[in-house]
Amino acid sequence: MTNVRSALLALAAASVAMSGDASAQGKLNRYGNPPTIAPAPTSSTISVKDLQVRLYTFADDSMQGRQVGRLGNKKGTDYIAAELRKLGVLPAGDNGTYFQVLPYHLKSFTNHSRLTVDGNPLAWEKDWVAVPGVRAPRGISSVPVIFGGVAGDTTKQITAAQANGKFVVLLPAPSAAAPAGPGRGGFAPQPTRLNSAIAIATVNLDDLTAAQRAAINQPTVATSTAIRSFGAPGAANQNVDSLAVYRQMVAMLAPQAVIRLTRTAAAQLFGRKTLDGIPLGTTGGTVTTSLDFIERSTDFARNVVGIIPGSDPALKHQYVALGAHNDHVGFSNTPVDKDSVKAFNDTRNRVLLANNMITLDQAKLQSIRVNMDSIRKAHPNPRLDSIRNGADDDGSGSMALLEIAEAIQGMKVKPKRSTLFVWHTGEEAGLIGSAFFVNNPTVPIDSIVTGINIDMIGRGRAEDLPGGGPDFVGVVGSSFDSKDLGEIVSSVNKKLDKPLALDYKFDSTVTWSGYNNLYGRSDHIMYARAGIPIAFFFTGLHGDYHQVSDEPEFIDYPHYQKITSYIRDLAVEVANGPRPRMNGTKPSRPPRTAVP
Ligand SMILES: [Zn+2]
Repeated sequence: MTNVRSALLALAAASVAMSGDASAQGKLNRYGNPPTIAPAPTSSTISVKDLQVRLYTFADDSMQGRQVGRLGNKKGTDYIAAELRKLGVLPAGDNGTYFQVLPYHLKSFTNHSRLTVDGNPLAWEKDWVAVPGVRAPRGISSVPVIFGGVAGDTTKQITAAQANGKFVVLLPAPSAAAPAGPGRGGFAPQPTRLNSAIAIATVNLDDLTAAQRAAINQPTVATSTAIRSFGAPGAANQNVDSLAVYRQMVAMLAPQAVIRLTRTAAAQLFGRKTLDGIPLGTTGGTVTTSLDFIERSTDFARNVVGIIPGSDPALKHQYVALGAHNDHVGFSNTPVDKDSVKAFNDTRNRVLLANNMITLDQAKLQSIRVNMDSIRKAHPNPRLDSIRNGADDDGSGSMALLEIAEAIQGMKVKPKRSTLFVWHTGEEAGLIGSAFFVNNPTVPIDSIVTGINIDMIGRGRAEDLPGGGPDFVGVVGSSFDSKDLGEIVSSVNKKLDKPLALDYKFDSTVTWSGYNNLYGRSDHIMYARAGIPIAFFFTGLHGDYHQVSDEPEFIDYPHYQKITSYIRDLAVEVANGPRPRMNGTKPSRPPRTAVP
């Protein structure tokens, strides 16, 4: 096995070297991959080189981890659309574009916002600032002021009754540093005794510079205004306290205003020089505001949708849907040393495998040691990194779809049915993009005969998970709703010169650490719930999952190429064959658990 392995790696490395491919730069790593590869033209052959060229671009640091609601997601979806345009794939998004735009907006208050106390105005940003949330807050008109105590410390706070209907002024929690930039205003507030207050104003503006105060209303993260379901999944069938749900809905639809004050301005609300020694429950003047809340639409949350029309006059009105997710989890605010993190993640995963995939306890985690000497020899200075590139998750699926589109576009005779490609956004935020597409399909939902979902097919080595290897691929749900589809999945594989090792273990519950509810954790579940037979392909988790170290240089390209080619064959087979029939009787499937 390994011999084949090193031969293949040598082959991959040689193919890069032989092609005199200037695009590969730097020393090859232990997987035969260079640190960087420059953009280069691709061909209709599904090749290691093309997958490398695409993935090194799509998962580059410049994509900022492609998080939904952020500029990085726009960058990623722009790249996919540009490639589709090049390939001549038909746009199938909104209004003849490739994009299906989700309602994600940048929310902020403008400097037309006003706050007065007993008719006397306070100065925007100098004395006070309103913190934008998901929705415009409830109005504040002649609301009496009360000193509510200390944020986060109920032992030093007024009662709920005292707070009810008031403009509550709080001192910041002693330990909490004054948060710079947009706060967490507007989400359903954590149930606290101050929920019944009209507004909460915290005295923590003095420590911020003018730029930081302005940044509070210069958001870079767009948020959705969509109402998310209440309570735990499945709560619907339990006796819910409808009054509590009603209150939650109100708090969600018209959230409390979140305001920040300087100490001087806060004292002014009570007609005092300072707040020093102010007794709990002290009342002040009345506050009235007009908060100018604006929502700017963004391109920070888009599904990308394209179609390759079928060749059969009748069947071309049916679709084989191929899906992947274009987003990942963005960047962290605290850069880390990428090489020691990588070494730590590799070791942790080795320990996890040795621990039979049982979650490592604190003692085991703390016992992990990283040999920094070899790292420092290679990199005398720490290479700081804060970008979670998502090369495998789900750069691998997203770029596989592009390669498959290019291959099908290269076919003289197109498959009979049409091929629908959907790059879903917001998968990491709770399958938001696929839910949106299934609820707002750009082709008739019942004309979709099968949904093939790819999420993480770039790793799956023996060092990543038990049973991993150069031919390993997990297949989930392929016969849950359609035995026909299950049979096609296996028969297409059998036709390969060297069939893949299709692994169905994830069809049932696997107790491995991190492997809970795989069937419910990616976009295919939205298609399955819409009555479309699905098959989900996945080569397993690994030490770099959701880490800064999920980089394109650690992908297993020969393996990835084989799976991508196989999925192309599968899509073509389904597009040309009889429509997979629904079972009618659904075999038992693992109990659905909440999406983590
Ligand atoms: Zn994923």
